Amino acid sequence: MLAVYSNRYQIDLGLHVFPTAKYRLIAERLSQRPDITFVEPEPAAWAELALVHTAEYLAKMRDGTLGETEVDQLELPWSAEMVEGFRLMVGGTIQAGLLATGLEVGSQKSKVRRNGSDFRPQTSDFEVVCPVGGGLHHAFPNHGEGFCPFNDVAVAARVLQDRGLVRIAIVDLDVHHGNGTAFIFESDPRVFTLSMHQQHNYPVWKPRSTLDVGLPDGVHDATYLRELERALPQAMAHRPQCVFFLAGADPYEDDQLGGLRLTRDGLRRRDRVVIETVRAAGVPLVVTLAGGYARRLDDTVSIHAATIEEAAAAARG
Ligand SMILES: [Zn+2]
Repeated sequence: MLAVYSNRYQIDLGLHVFPTAKYRLIAERLSQRPDITFVEPEPAAWAELALVHTAEYLAKMRDGTLGETEVDQLELPWSAEMVEGFRLMVGGTIQAGLLATGLEVGSQKSKVRRNGSDFRPQTSDFEVVCPVGGGLHHAFPNHGEGFCPFNDVAVAARVLQDRGLVRIAIVDLDVHHGNGTAFIFESDPRVFTLSMHQQHNYPVWKPRSTLDVGLPDGVHDATYLRELERALPQAMAHRPQCVFFLAGADPYEDDQLGGLRLTRDGLRRRDRVVIETVRAAGVPLVVTLAGGYARRLDDTVSIHAATIEEAAAAARG
């Protein structure tokens, strides 16, 4: 399986609850696995970002001219390094979408770098592709929010639509509602947005997804998985040609920003349900990581690594 990753996903944010070191730690943990090949992303082009974001917002991000309230809402300090790191993450999700759907097969761009040398992936390499990052679902067209400067999945979906894909599903299982994504695709019936989240948590304003499942506080594994088994078939009934899965680690019982009570085993079963359901339908799958703020960084890394392991296992078939 292909995993899209760059060392530059680790961004210096000062003292911050968002541990960008997790990306490097996940990649290190998985680096010796023979069934995962790491490929380097290109930064998303500004024109690609403009498929979702307004020119005015992108100019402020590029030039570092966000206002104070905009920085407060983004909850990230602006720096050129931050912008480049997140542009790379968006590029990673775009690349994953193109590889998973086979839209890049045979083109120059499909020559992805492995260990510094070029290679051309085989079809079986990329039915499931994991960007080791992304899931930046709080970003809106005209502003960033909640650690999300750009909405990588929305941009990637728009790129796939530009290349002729019609129906896309976004399965967002981060503990927080996918507000930016819901807003972006509110009036696009081609994109099915499913958000299953803790109802009484950030963000306060939750624009309507195609299907919202707002869970009460403290939900455990069994209830969560039952709700997932009910919701997922509705997304698959959309007959998507690509599924983007936001496998947030923050429904975890020891997460600092989440109020659900899933165990690590429950999260692994969640991932398996989504990945196996999409695979069984023969639909290309992009698995992004999204949030994860466990008290112990090692728990966050382990949960995300398990997600990627489940995807790799499914890709092996
Ligand atoms: Zn989250």
